[in-house]
Amino acid sequence: MLQVLSRLLLYKAYYYFGFPRIMPMSYTISLTWDCNSKCSTCFVCKRKSTDMSLDEYKKVFYHLGKSPYWITFSGGEPFLRKDFTEIVKSFYDICKPRIINIPTNGILTNTIIKSIQDICQHCKKAQIIVNLSIDGIGDQHDQIRNVPGNYQKVILTFDKLKKMCKATNNNTDKPLYSRIDRSKNIDRKKQQTGNIKSSLKYKSKGNNFVYQASIKDKNSNKINEDAANNISFKNLSVGIHTVISKYNIDNFAMISNTLMELKPEQYITEIAEERHELMTVGVDITPELLNYKAAVDYLTHRIKHTDIEKRMNRITQAFRIEYYKLAKAILRFKTQIIPCYSGVVSCQIAPDGDVWACCIKAKSLGNLRKNKYNLKKILRNIKFKKERKYIKDKQCYCPLANASYTNMLLDFKTLFRVFYRSFVKWFN
Ligand code: SF4
Ligand code: SF4
Repeated sequence: MLQVLSRLLLYKAYYYFGFPRIMPMSYTISLTWDCNSKCSTCFVCKRKSTDMSLDEYKKVFYHLGKSPYWITFSGGEPFLRKDFTEIVKSFYDICKPRIINIPTNGILTNTIIKSIQDICQHCKKAQIIVNLSIDGIGDQHDQIRNVPGNYQKVILTFDKLKKMCKATNNNTDKPLYSRIDRSKNIDRKKQQTGNIKSSLKYKSKGNNFVYQASIKDKNSNKINEDAANNISFKNLSVGIHTVISKYNIDNFAMISNTLMELKPEQYITEIAEERHELMTVGVDITPELLNYKAAVDYLTHRIKHTDIEKRMNRITQAFRIEYYKLAKAILRFKTQIIPCYSGVVSCQIAPDGDVWACCIKAKSLGNLRKNKYNLKKILRNIKFKKERKYIKDKQCYCPLANASYTNMLLDFKTLFRVFYRSFVKWFN
C-alpha cells in the first residue's frame, strides 16, 4: 500500500512538472474487437484489426516490467480469443500485477469457467475480478444486446462463478439461487445455441421467485458443473456491470434492485456515452442528465443506507458515491472537475498495438509493432507529450469510470472524504 501511495505522489509530480517520467500503473489491453453480442450501445465489432499474437504480447509485457498494478483485459469479448488464458498467465508471470480485471458479456459459460479456474489457480497472488455486463432483466437484456438467450447465459455464468468464490462459499451453506421478480408462478425457458442447451426453471418461493439453471451439451450431459461446484478461489471476485443508457433508464431502479439481489461482490454502473473506441460518436444512446441523476441518486441512497460492516467494503462504496457525484458534476458543468491523469497513470493498448491515452478519444499516439513493442518509447514521443498537455489544459472531459476512479485516487479532497466516511462516520 505504501508503495502505491508513494507512486501516486510521483504521478502528481510527473503531471505538474513533467518529472520523474514513470510508467503508468493502470493498463487496459483490448485483445480483440470481435464480439458475440451486438449491443445497441456499442459498435466495436465494426472495427477491423490484425490482432497481436501471444508472442507479440510477451514482448510488450517484458517492456512493461513490474510497472502494472492494475490490468484490464477487455475487448470486444476477450474470451473469444483462443489464447486468452495463456495471455493472462504470461502477463502475470512477467509483470506480477496485483489486480486483473476481466469484463465479459458472459455468453460463453463453459469457456469462461474453465479459463477463470485456470487463471485463478495460476495467478495466486493477484486479485482476479470478473465483471459480467447486464443491462436489463430477461428479455430486455436480450433486446439491448440483440442476442436471444443472452440473459439466461450470463446469469448461469454468474452463478457458476459465484460458486467459485471462496468468500461466497464461506458465507452460505445453501445453493446459490438468484431471486427474480416475475409475474408468473412457474416459468420454464429453454434455449439451444449450437451444441449447447440451457434451461431455466422459475419457481415461486414465499414472496420471491427463484430459479435453477442447467446447461447441457447436445448429448444432454451436464457441462463442467461438478468442476465449477467443487473448486473455489479466495483470489476471485465476481461483479455485475450495467451500462445506463436510453434503452434502460426508464426502469433502471427495477434493474439495479434485481441485480443487487443476486449479491454480486460489486455492482457498478456507467453511463452510455459517445466513445470513439466503441464507434458511438453521434449515436443517440446517452440518457438525459436529469434521468441519469435520478438513477445514480437512487444508487447512492441505497449505498448510504445499507449497513456495511467490513471496512474494505465501506471504502469501496464510499468511492462509488464519490464517483456518482463526480460523474453528475462532469456532465452538468461539461469540464474536468478534478484533473484527468490519463496518459500519465493509465493508458490503453488496442488489439493491433495502437496506444491510446484513453478509450473515449481512441487516438493513436504510436504503434507498438512499429516501436519494437516498447511502450516506454511511445509514452515519451512528442505526440504523447502533446496529448498529456491537451488533457492537462482541460480540453476534454468525460465521466469514464475507469479514468475517474484513478483520478479520485490522486485527489486529496476525495481521499479525505472517503477516509472520513469509512473510518470516522458512515453516512447513516
Ligand atoms: S458492449 Fe461489450 S458485449 Fe456489447 S458489443 Fe460491445 S464489446 Fe460486445
Ligand atoms: S477527460 Fe475523459 S476524454 Fe479526456 S483524457 Fe480523460 S478520460 Fe479521456
